[in-house]
Amino acid sequence: MSHVFPRHTNSELPIAAGGDGCYLIDALGRRYLDCGDAAVSCLGHSNPAVIKAVQGQVEQIAFAHTGFMTSEPAEALADLLVEHAPGELDRVYFVSGGSEATEAAIKLARQYFLEIGQPDRRHVIARRQSYHGNTLGALSAGGNAWRRAQFAPMLIEMTHIAPCYEYAEKPEGESSFDYGQRVANELEAEILRLGSETVMAFMAEPVVGATLGAVPAVEGYFKRIREICDQYGVLLILDEVMCGMGRTGHLFACDHDGIAPDILCIAKGLGAGYQPIGAMMCTAKIFDAIRDGSGFFQHGHTYIGHPVATAAALAVVGEMTQRDLPGRVAIMGEKVQSALVAALGQHPNVGDIRGRGLFRGIELVTDRDTKAPLDPALGVAGKIKKAALAEGLICYPMSGTRDGRLGDHILLAPPFIIEDAQID
Ligand code: PLP
Repeated sequence: MSHVFPRHTNSELPIAAGGDGCYLIDALGRRYLDCGDAAVSCLGHSNPAVIKAVQGQVEQIAFAHTGFMTSEPAEALADLLVEHAPGELDRVYFVSGGSEATEAAIKLARQYFLEIGQPDRRHVIARRQSYHGNTLGALSAGGNAWRRAQFAPMLIEMTHIAPCYEYAEKPEGESSFDYGQRVANELEAEILRLGSETVMAFMAEPVVGATLGAVPAVEGYFKRIREICDQYGVLLILDEVMCGMGRTGHLFACDHDGIAPDILCIAKGLGAGYQPIGAMMCTAKIFDAIRDGSGFFQHGHTYIGHPVATAAALAVVGEMTQRDLPGRVAIMGEKVQSALVAALGQHPNVGDIRGRGLFRGIELVTDRDTKAPLDPALGVAGKIKKAALAEGLICYPMSGTRDGRLGDHILLAPPFIIEDAQID
């Protein structure tokens, strides 16, 4: 009997024993095309440059606490990220994963306003269909009703506005642009309702992942969001934990929207699964306020800036930038989209096929005209996950929330090295 406490307590899982490019291999030798282990494995499973970097680093120095020392890979990785980052992002705070990155972002926003003498700024506004992580602060920001439900009495009060979800929520007759402006303006209304001097940040995923299934915003939405944040002095936090690091065809997903945040969270693809690592990036304005104020960010974890994790991520980002993998993602993403539309576009239970780059979502419906979601009691997402695994495919089916109900969709996030034959 296993003593591991698995998340799905009643499932018998295969043992992951090997990796070969886009494939995971279990202990019985079965191969699985890895298109969705939560959008982590962007370089596949046996990248020689990353393996070498991890081996070299662990031989040199495994750990040095960041309260005492920095390390060469952490410094080099921060330089590389800032070199490619959008806007004025200038400092990188390394963490071990996505929830730590968003949690740190919320705390940084709060501390920034304390340092500049605006202690009344305490409210975070986020969006109803969103996921920002599972620690209590990050879960409070997220709007996924199912994930929040059990912990509701323990969550921090944060308010949620509509997401930009054109397929399900744009009324017929309204243009995409007008719809995007209208839902973005909900942010302004919420800031005014709370009192603009009390709002510290707005948090959103540029392409919504785990809650909606690869839903990008319509053109102009994030530009309007940026304008509203600037007008009211509210920090814009973008959560690119799932959609960032090349996944959408740009190294940073917000590049597509033509805006830059004040704080950016990344994880998953940053370490590409070779090491657990995430990061929170911020502008010099925010960093300087702390450096010139208290001189101490009142937040931290033991493993921040871990040398082996940053060495792995340095090699990952090196691979992405030197081989222009985001460019490849854009091309292969269009192929995945066309293949999905050709195979499933007319299926009576497929309502929408969408996404950006190698981040694709298939929304399942009862009726294509009404777009009504599937009955959650059918548990279709879970059945698809199981059936796909039996066929040698790892995808990421999920139950999302729509109009307060659960709806099913399938997320596909193949490695950036995927080939035509594998797409077929
Ligand atoms: N933010 C987003 C957008 C995510 O998709 C996730 C995880 O799926 C997280 C945050 C949390 O990341 P982690 O699971 O690494 O804590």
